Amino acid sequence: MRYISTRGSAPALDFAGVLLAGLANDGGLYVPETWPVFTAADMRAMRGLPYADLAAKIMAPFVCDGVVSFNDLQAMCRSAYAGFTHPATAPLIQLEPGLFALELFHGPTLAFKDFALQLAGRLFDHVLAAQDRTVTIVGATSGDTGSAAIEACRDRARVNIAILHPAGKTSEVQRRQMTTVQAANVCNIAVEGNFDDCQDLVKAMFADAPFRDEMHLSAVNSINWARIAGQIPYYFAAALALGAPDREVSVSVPTGNFGNVLAAWAAAQMGLPIARFIVGSNRNDILTRFLASNDMTVRGVAESLSPSMDIQVSSNFERLLFELLGRDAALTARTMTDFRASGRMNIADDVWRRARRQFVGFSLDDAGTLAEIARLYHTSSYLADPHSAVGIAAARAAAPVGLPVIVAATAHPAKFPDAMERAVGFRPGLPEHLKDLYTREERYSSAANDLTEIQLLIRRFAARNEV
Ligand SMILES: *Cc1c(COP(=O)(O)O)cnc(C)c1O
Repeated sequence: MRYISTRGSAPALDFAGVLLAGLANDGGLYVPETWPVFTAADMRAMRGLPYADLAAKIMAPFVCDGVVSFNDLQAMCRSAYAGFTHPATAPLIQLEPGLFALELFHGPTLAFKDFALQLAGRLFDHVLAAQDRTVTIVGATSGDTGSAAIEACRDRARVNIAILHPAGKTSEVQRRQMTTVQAANVCNIAVEGNFDDCQDLVKAMFADAPFRDEMHLSAVNSINWARIAGQIPYYFAAALALGAPDREVSVSVPTGNFGNVLAAWAAAQMGLPIARFIVGSNRNDILTRFLASNDMTVRGVAESLSPSMDIQVSSNFERLLFELLGRDAALTARTMTDFRASGRMNIADDVWRRARRQFVGFSLDDAGTLAEIARLYHTSSYLADPHSAVGIAAARAAAPVGLPVIVAATAHPAKFPDAMERAVGFRPGLPEHLKDLYTREERYSSAANDLTEIQLLIRRFAARNEV
């Protein structure tokens, strides 16, 4: 498979290329040159496969070439998902007639990002070994992404990972999930500043060409195609269990950067019969406004009970835009440049109508989220975290009647104990493998919001094995 940029002026790359590059060098995002399609017979033959084997089959057209064979991919999937604590990997739980929660939080850091990142860490090692190279992954986090990336890269032979987090501004669970990882190739840096400061420092490190080349910097952020690819298989698993390809389903996805819902949309391009995509948002409702009235105007980010959805500009939306515009890369590039400059995306009405045929938006504020968590607990004894609760409420409000709807349950409720206590009166316990999280030893460096100081820390960390 070759990958092309949504903005049309970066070189086409193979899978190893897009894995290591992340963003295209014209500012665009890489997408597959064509969508692989499975026939109904192909899909029926996949029913009942163990999750890891299904994942390998679904991802093979994206990943497999001279560098990664199908056997390599299958072995990596089996090893990545062996660390998940539920035997079904992504269990599908019926909440009500026609309403199903697809639990994506049984991985090491209790959120859906583990699905793609556990695999991406292994793919990095494999591809880098083939090229006899190493990289230093640098990233900024406000919580969830950092811990999932660290868990994915710990103990990998060819990867160092340094993650900046804002000192005192992540939740204790989130910080401890990062800082208690005892692995020589992991470096946590607590920065005196906020998340934006951390992100600016990371951008500055990538912009510093000598430093970037010396450290072999790389990233695993959510625009990396491997992140999307790793999230497609669970939509197949759930829909096949509910009767696809012989029955249509809808999906409802609590959305931030638009990566997870885009993965569901990709599954549909590949033949999975998904009738409707329900995009759940908290009070940061730019996508809801777009889908309701073609108003994609950036406002300030407001904090909510579902912090991983506190986002205004959903970077992966560009991949959908490119398709909605008939893969016109020049128009995509112009639309994105104008959007960045003006804060409002200018989309023709017929294009917007095309989006509306498949996507519907729904937003829920904090009070509604707490009420939904309480309602689910009292009617179904189900504990949904604040993100999943938005997805469930969205499904109930906006799903087409008569079709089963699959809600992506994106995080374990124990990750958000304060919100859960407000909604149901108690703090859900952590699963067995994290029971001692609060007593584990933490390890991190502290630094001022100062590029030179942080670059020095990362240089020393990367050089730790050299004499
Ligand atoms: C990252 C995240 C989201 C948002 O997913 P996107 O792919 O960015 O849309 C939703 N819920 C949780 C718990 C997350 O960690």
